[in-house]
Amino acid sequence: DYDTDLGFKELGEKMHEMNQRNAEIDMMKEMENYRKEYIGNVSHELKTPLFSIQGYIETLRDGGVEDLTIRDKYLQRIDSSVERLLNIVKDLDMINRYESGQIDLKYSIFDINLLIQEIFDLLEMEAEKHLMTMQLQTTQSQLFVFADKQRISQVLINLISNSIKYANREEAQIIVSTREGTKSIHISVEDNGMGIKPENLPRIFERFFRVESSRSRKEGGSGLGLAIVKHILEAHKQTISVESAYLSGTKFKFKLGKPAVNGKKNKTNATA
Ligand code: ADP
Repeated sequence: DYDTDLGFKELGEKMHEMNQRNAEIDMMKEMENYRKEYIGNVSHELKTPLFSIQGYIETLRDGGVEDLTIRDKYLQRIDSSVERLLNIVKDLDMINRYESGQIDLKYSIFDINLLIQEIFDLLEMEAEKHLMTMQLQTTQSQLFVFADKQRISQVLINLISNSIKYANREEAQIIVSTREGTKSIHISVEDNGMGIKPENLPRIFERFFRVESSRSRKEGGSGLGLAIVKHILEAHKQTISVESAYLSGTKFKFKLGKPAVNGKKNKTNATA
């Protein structure tokens, strides 16, 4: 009796060990698949501009270099393909740093409305090219937040440039709104562009996900912009939400912390 019991106990332990081992193997397989998919995506992204460059060089070699107009045109194209490659590599590097927790935020107090105006100035040319207007709607002329200014400016640039890229009408417009809530500052970026189909909406924050890859590529997109936005806001312990109506527009919403009033947390100048 005693022996049999011990046998069962050992058998149970063995089975438990085996189950654990199987779970580990499943996880390793999953990670391996993920890694393969990731490398596949990266190399695909890099291949497109590289093949273009190769093609432009070939054209130049085949006599294009003799004709000044063709030469300039193709050099210009090579230049933009190289810029695209650099942007992809920069974005990848950024994502890698977020995912391995290597990003230190530099918190400060700044006026979000002023930052939005600065970004409008920065993107003005791009917006004009697409005949778009950009507008800030706010409840107060100044609204102070406590966040990493440079990273938040990246968030706004990515969202607003997407609204510019995915516009689909003549009177295209972007409205950025800010208002003060009880605990935080609420910010939204809304456009009246092409919108996103409901089935694609849950996936847009994934790396490399694009609804229409040809359009996104043509506009210089790497499919990484929203993944970076999500990471930056996560690092600020915030989330981002999106609502969209296909063919009529999209609205992204997020919050940022307010600077604390004297004596509460987030105090930047301590007295000894
Ligand atoms: P991309 O570099 O392709 O723009 P993003 O990560 O910034 O990559 O966006 C992912 C996808 O989400 C885009 O390819 C596009 O299909 C969709 N998208 C993002 N913003 C908008 C928007 N404002 N209007 C319509 N579609 C959008």
